[in-house]
Amino acid sequence: MAKIFCIANQKGGVGKTTTTVNLAAGLAEVGQRVLMVDLDPQGNATMGSGVDKRQMALSVYDVLLESASVAEAAVYSEKCGYHVLGANRELAGAEVELVEVERREKRLKTSLAEVADAYDFVLIDCPPSLSMLTLNGLCAAHGVIVPMQCEYFALEGLTDLVNTIKQVHANLNKDLAIIGLLRVMFDPRITLQQQVSDQLKAHFGDKVFDTVIPRNVRLAEAPSYGLPGVVFDPSARGSQAFVAFAQEMVDRIGKL
Ligand code: ADP
Ligand code: MG
Repeated sequence: MAKIFCIANQKGGVGKTTTTVNLAAGLAEVGQRVLMVDLDPQGNATMGSGVDKRQMALSVYDVLLESASVAEAAVYSEKCGYHVLGANRELAGAEVELVEVERREKRLKTSLAEVADAYDFVLIDCPPSLSMLTLNGLCAAHGVIVPMQCEYFALEGLTDLVNTIKQVHANLNKDLAIIGLLRVMFDPRITLQQQVSDQLKAHFGDKVFDTVIPRNVRLAEAPSYGLPGVVFDPSARGSQAFVAFAQEMVDRIGKL
């Protein structure tokens, strides 16, 4: 049975997409069967997995509107070693179209249930908002991975997300839990980052993942080659950190 995780944080540019594609590639590398679902109309996770968002016959949009199954719409990225249920601008329209339909927040959950045996992990890259798309992700998931930068306002921004997750947990999805906070783009030379990191650990304890993702330019360069850093430059420090994070996830899930 696939374990399903949302990579979510309502702030943009905090490293959600980078985390999603590199964790997917890292999990594939340690032998897991992975489906990456792009729920952001920007389609960055799709492009960053080597799938051209402009050339897709079917996308997550068709799945949400129930005109295609996940098995029909997902494509295998040969280079990355995982399946991709892609997104493009069409998905922005789903927000409005879903308003009219039944079970609108459970569409993704229902569709993913059909492929639960085909994967070990499903990773959902969420858009930077708490929209109907994100809600579909949260309703489908067993847990949320929250990438965050160790900056001054990081904790403050978490409150909204934590409250949303609590509401979804109470009303829509009893399975949902925060799996952990992932410190990303970390630079240990910056004293403030070290302080915020310590605060995070004091506040959230073992909800903070042990693995820390460093700021690493190779991770930022990889998307322009249509690859996760883990595939683009496996020897880069950032890539090695993501493979270590994949192993940490496999270990944690064993204990869930
Ligand atoms: P989000 O999906 O939350 O908007 P992204 O994953 O797209 O965030 O990251 C925002 C920007 O930061 C991108 O340009 C990405 O390449 C860069 N980035 C993300 N993680 C790192 C890192 N660990 N080191 C260097 N650059 C990073
Ligand atoms: Mg993104």
